[in-house]
Amino acid sequence: MSYLHEVSAQVSLVDHHCHGLMRDDLTRPEFELLASESDWPEPHNHTIFDSPVGTIIRAECAPLLGLPRHSSADDYWSRRAELGQAEVSRILMTQTGIGRLMIDTGFRSPTILSPDQMTELTGAANDEIVRIEQVAEQVVIDGTTAATFADDFRTALAVRAERAIGFKTIIAYRYGLDFDPDRPSDAEVVAAAGEWLSNIGEGRVRIAHPVLLRHLLWTAVDFAMPIQFHVGYGDSDITMPRCDPTQMTEFLRRTVDSGIEVMLLHCYPFIREAGFLAQVYPHVWLDNGAALNYTGPSYMSLMRQLVEMAPFSKVMFSSDAFGLPELYYNGSLLWRRGLATIFTEWVDNDYVSQDDAARYLDMMGRTNALRAYRLMED
Ligand SMILES: [Zn+2]
Repeated sequence: MSYLHEVSAQVSLVDHHCHGLMRDDLTRPEFELLASESDWPEPHNHTIFDSPVGTIIRAECAPLLGLPRHSSADDYWSRRAELGQAEVSRILMTQTGIGRLMIDTGFRSPTILSPDQMTELTGAANDEIVRIEQVAEQVVIDGTTAATFADDFRTALAVRAERAIGFKTIIAYRYGLDFDPDRPSDAEVVAAAGEWLSNIGEGRVRIAHPVLLRHLLWTAVDFAMPIQFHVGYGDSDITMPRCDPTQMTEFLRRTVDSGIEVMLLHCYPFIREAGFLAQVYPHVWLDNGAALNYTGPSYMSLMRQLVEMAPFSKVMFSSDAFGLPELYYNGSLLWRRGLATIFTEWVDNDYVSQDDAARYLDMMGRTNALRAYRLMED
């Protein structure tokens, strides 16, 4: 192993965007769905194990479960089922070297481990990231009116913000990043809340009204904390061209001096656009979470794009793992390996010193996140 691969393997990673692991044992169809962003199983009786994410699981996770590399899908699955979700989680998570988990608690919470249970299982510290749309939906479930919604939401967000280190918005899913950058007026918010509340009926409470989504976002801006934005790659709810982060350039201009940090998550396939924004705007940061897992053997092109343009002080690590320890394990493994490979190449070409390269590995894997979330001084 080269020197920089060793350094990279030692970094106590801060995973600045991730979710809990599934609490219970899984069926194979459940596993296959969790290993994809699709809402549908693989068609024609095919399996997710024959895909970029599946091949990398069979290559890298199989040996840790006592199987040969490239085990068949059926062999991997039967071994996994025999060990059970909890044991597989324990085995793989202890190998990730993640020291701190910043957990988005806003999605499918009852079926996944809580942040404290994640710490119990992994030994990694945890922090909470609060999903603003989920807070608004809870305000409705708890009871609100069109006239009081804005105040009720602000109060609820303040309570959640006390224990959290940042917010997350899924405005990309619910509308698009091409949202109107204006802060809506009080009257617009009351009218929009009235429309939303009268249309909810019996169905699931789901906030998608564009005026209200903007209101949630601007209310979060008032707290002057880091705000994570889902960008690009995601499930069937998104319309990809509207998830290009340059669509929200005007919002970025208007928030430069607001005290927020804009954390661009995932970014696939807009990693270059995100890197450009991170270079130009002082409050913009980026990662390529999830995309490493889902490009599997082709992950190097994304790692190269990640360090192509953005200052090295703005590049972050995240696994964006949800549910499966395989995604945590491969997310951190490919990240460490990818950066070490790139920096070794740069050192070999004499573009960077070995000491600087080692410093960048620590910044990108750990200290950039601590600075962004104000857990460490500049
Ligand atoms: Zn996520």
